[in-house]
Amino acid sequence: MREHTALSEKIEVIVPEEGEVFDIELEEDLLEANRRIAEENKQLLEKHGVRAIDVMGSVGSGKTTLIEKLIALLKDKHRIAVFGGDVTTTIDAERLRKSGAKTLQINTGKECHLDANLVRKALNKMDLNNIDVLFIENVGNLICPAEFPLGTDSRVVVISVTEGPYTPLKHPYIFMEADVAVINKIDLAEAMGVDVDELEAKIRKVSPDIVVVKTSCKTGEGIEKVAKALGLL
Ligand code: MG
Ligand code: ZN
Repeated sequence: MREHTALSEKIEVIVPEEGEVFDIELEEDLLEANRRIAEENKQLLEKHGVRAIDVMGSVGSGKTTLIEKLIALLKDKHRIAVFGGDVTTTIDAERLRKSGAKTLQINTGKECHLDANLVRKALNKMDLNNIDVLFIENVGNLICPAEFPLGTDSRVVVISVTEGPYTPLKHPYIFMEADVAVINKIDLAEAMGVDVDELEAKIRKVSPDIVVVKTSCKTGEGIEKVAKALGLL
């Protein structure tokens, strides 16, 4: 018996057949219902002149820190609110509240993404007349948040160089859905052996029109560029 598979042999890949994924029709209905509510959210936000930004990315990519830094930069210019999306904890919302922004936690219970219905519930609890900018920190996940638009004006995906060089190729869909990609923790790029320009090229390969901004939330580099890319500065 061989101990190792010869490298020249292709790895066998298991893929679902058409109709094999459970509840595929239910899922289609669900996504359609989500899109409808997202459209309503968008109209509600527009009516009150609120610019909303969906911040997506893996656990540990730096979403909360990026939002903290953006609030610090923009708080004299805009009235800012934040929704912190998480499965069960309030850790990030507690942090964000200290920034002085109005903060609301959205716990999904089990779900690994926010959906438009949960965001609508949160919007109904806010006085939208007193808000100019709303940051929504999505649940740390690179897969399903892409499929669930929330009704925001912009979508940002944050990745960190600590995730290694392949995130855009492994999860292209979230980059295709996003308007802005933030490559964060560039101060660690050398230590991680990651070429930031190559990472940017990979992002552009899967999403040619996306705006890419390189940041270090630690040093503050690039934060103004993110605010400009979002039309907030
Ligand atoms: Mg966070
Ligand atoms: Zn999910």
